[in-house]
Amino acid sequence: MAYDDGNIFARILRGEIPNKTVYEDEHALAFHDIRPQAPVHVLVIPKGRYVSSDDFGAEAPAEAIAGFWHAVSRVARDLRLDQSGYRLIANHGANSHQEVPHFHVHILGGRSLGPMLVKRG
Ligand code: AMP
Repeated sequence: MAYDDGNIFARILRGEIPNKTVYEDEHALAFHDIRPQAPVHVLVIPKGRYVSSDDFGAEAPAEAIAGFWHAVSRVARDLRLDQSGYRLIANHGANSHQEVPHFHVHILGGRSLGPMLVKRG
């Protein structure tokens, strides 16, 4: 899947749409999710043009991958979630219901999050 420069996170990175930033460095931007699904719900995105975790893991330079994951754990610590615990989610493709085609990791915490997936059937 080709990267779409019009996706909402690309527009946030270009400063065209406001966001509630919690952290930024050369590799990553972290901001509050607009529709939080937990008391703390922050998204971390790489600065590069990657559609999803599949694309990022396969194509990003090692420095960008290391910098991104360093930012994820730093943001979780800054949010004081490292003691109480948190969940990371990264959706890829149709079965995951990925909405925004720019790789992002959700950091969720602030309460007990229950089972990892809703059981069906
Ligand atoms: P996903 O389904 O993994 O692609 O998640 C996309 C997430 O982006 C959802 O949790 C949305 O609530 C969130 N989102 C969409 N637009 C914005 C925005 N402008 N600012 C912050 N979060 C957003």
